[in-house]
Amino acid sequence: MIYRQVFDVLNLGLVILDEGLHVCYWNRWMTRHSGFDCENIIGSPLLEFFPDLDTKYFNRSVRSVFKFGSFVFMSQKLHKYLFKFEKKVSGFQHMQQSVTMGPIKDKDNVVEHVFIVIQDVTEMAAYEKKLHNMNIKDGLTGVYNRRYLETRLKDEFDRHKRYCHALSVIMFDIDHFKSINDTFGHQYGDFVLKEVSATALDTLRVNDALARYGGEEFCCILPETTISSAMMVAERIRKNVESQENRFESTMTSAKVTISLGVSELCEITDTHEMLLKKADDALYKAKREGRNRVVSMTLF
Ligand code: GH3
Ligand code: MG
Ligand code: MG
Repeated sequence: MIYRQVFDVLNLGLVILDEGLHVCYWNRWMTRHSGFDCENIIGSPLLEFFPDLDTKYFNRSVRSVFKFGSFVFMSQKLHKYLFKFEKKVSGFQHMQQSVTMGPIKDKDNVVEHVFIVIQDVTEMAAYEKKLHNMNIKDGLTGVYNRRYLETRLKDEFDRHKRYCHALSVIMFDIDHFKSINDTFGHQYGDFVLKEVSATALDTLRVNDALARYGGEEFCCILPETTISSAMMVAERIRKNVESQENRFESTMTSAKVTISLGVSELCEITDTHEMLLKKADDALYKAKREGRNRVVSMTLF
């Protein structure tokens, strides 16, 4: 093939298949990432080397290129990748790919072959993921930020309306946190914020969401959870925080802290998600007034 010299230096994968899905061309990029030399793979059915590709979607896509001469685009967002190549970049285990398939026609305009072009978009996808995380996560503690919490609460509220599942929230705030900062310094205060949020996160289930609501105030959304279960979760968080040492290795500082928690559950006749939050906040301040280091609940009617 006269263009081989060009195709072999492309920073893209290029594969050409005949109608029986035999490999007719396999460029150097594909060899580098798959480990299969073109001498070995050319002439063989592609699916023999890549049984994972034998999906309804892939077969349908190739068939439609042969039948209609159309182009198929597989976005990374939807498909992640076509060829499973190992590449570990910020949380990804495999190379993320953007793929285009198209027809190669003969002089009578009949589709003889299909080409597949594979672009490695792993770094771009990792960057997008990082941007997305920055948008929804709190920079200090790594839990969700307030903006995410509000959107998520609205979504959970809508789901609650549709399916009538229970929905509870817990608001909590570190007790006398100002004196922690004043006594041990702001850096230690930051460390305590991270420790407390990590403990709360460990106590929650995977479907729950934890967000930093303000300075040292946090909010947990507990989908499909009644107030009595949420109270138990809140009490577990309270106990776990109360017992942790918060040992900051770099300055050898340790101090225990406590939190006050307010819990509320959404009821059928309640109209807004803001009210659910407000009631949890009211309960939290009741907990503060009643002496701190405790859980107080508030139901909505
Ligand atoms: P209470 O028991 O009533 O909640 O008392 P408190 O001292 O915790 O409450 P107050 O609202 O007076 O103080 C909150 C403190 O939290 C004051 C502020 O400096 C501190 N804070 C807020 N955000 C951060 C942060 O990101 N890092 C650190 N180290 N401190 C923070
Ligand atoms: Mg506080
Ligand atoms: Mg506060």
